[in-house]
Amino acid sequence: MEIRSAEFICSNTKVDKLPLPDKPEHAFIGRSNVGKSSLINMLTGKRKLAKTSQTPGKTQLINHFLINGIWYMVDLPGYGYARTSKKNRRSWEGFITDYLERRPNLQCVMVLIDSRLEPQAIDLEFINWLGSRGVPFSLVFTKADKQSKQKTIQNIRLFEREMLKTWETVPEIFITSAEKQLGKEELLEFIEGVNQA
Ligand code: GDP
Repeated sequence: MEIRSAEFICSNTKVDKLPLPDKPEHAFIGRSNVGKSSLINMLTGKRKLAKTSQTPGKTQLINHFLINGIWYMVDLPGYGYARTSKKNRRSWEGFITDYLERRPNLQCVMVLIDSRLEPQAIDLEFINWLGSRGVPFSLVFTKADKQSKQKTIQNIRLFEREMLKTWETVPEIFITSAEKQLGKEELLEFIEGVNQA
């Protein structure tokens, strides 16, 4: 799929105020600073569509972008920002879990994982929660240009091994770099396939 148009639609904190669920949608989420905004901008070819954050954990909104007029790309707030307050964290949990559990047109959650790191408890906890709620997801490893291919693959293998302690299978996995435009076609093709299914 080629992205011909990517249009900002709205920012929300309440599921009731989201656009009508009349188009398939794919949500992007991950730890603050994982490279989510950079990935969204790389996928859409728009350098400033999602705001890359100098202050991690700041954007606490659900952002909807309409892609090619036919599906929504959704930018969700990052999780696991250590310096956020407990109250903030609870409100994050409230409206994001609300969104993830209640959005009928949500096709897939792209969980972004920093490919430089060995498996992090917070990411595993989050995907286990998705699993417990039956929310479909894929894993998108980011910043693959930052280290050797071998190291990236090693970290992914470790992640899979951790997952297989509680899961029977591993989901779809993508390796990406916003810097090197890596993984764009694969990810967009996957989304197109899901939308057409
Ligand atoms: P977000 O908080 O998850 O939206 O993360 P950002 O997209 O704002 O990225 C956080 C930092 O990582 C920024 O300094 C980006 O320039 C950097 N970054 C993001 N993606 C990549 C990548 O693919 N490669 C490299 N080398 N740096 C990246």
